[in-house]
Amino acid sequence: MTETVFSKILSGEIPADIVFEDDQVLAFRDNNPKAPTHVLVIPRKPIPSIAETSDEDRELLGHCLRVCARVAEDAGVSEDGYRIVANIGSHGGQTVFHLHFHVLGGRRMTWPPG
Ligand code: 5GP
Repeated sequence: MTETVFSKILSGEIPADIVFEDDQVLAFRDNNPKAPTHVLVIPRKPIPSIAETSDEDRELLGHCLRVCARVAEDAGVSEDGYRIVANIGSHGGQTVFHLHFHVLGGRRMTWPPG
């Protein structure tokens, strides 16, 4: 996989405001937040998007979602609710091609997304 801004954050080349990390994932604040709470949860494994995952990634994907829930809980947005978003490809609005989940909270979300 080609280098992305997120692989540079994983390697420490680019700084990030990290809120959680373990051996499989990293969670850090989005530097252009779209909500009062906007955290990105990424696997350390370099996967471009959910479309490029395979059955062997099932546990990792489940772990990413559990970390999203933990991040939301830690940010204090769990009770009011929040949104987890994964953009995929150009129609999905993906701009960084390293798999990531957006955790958005702290305001009421609209539906459907634009
Ligand atoms: P996407 O559009 O691919 O779903 O989401 C990429 C997200 O990464 C965007 O919300 C954007 O603001 C965020 N982002 C891009 N570059 C950086 C960066 O260097 N640092 C951080 N913390 N977030 C970034």
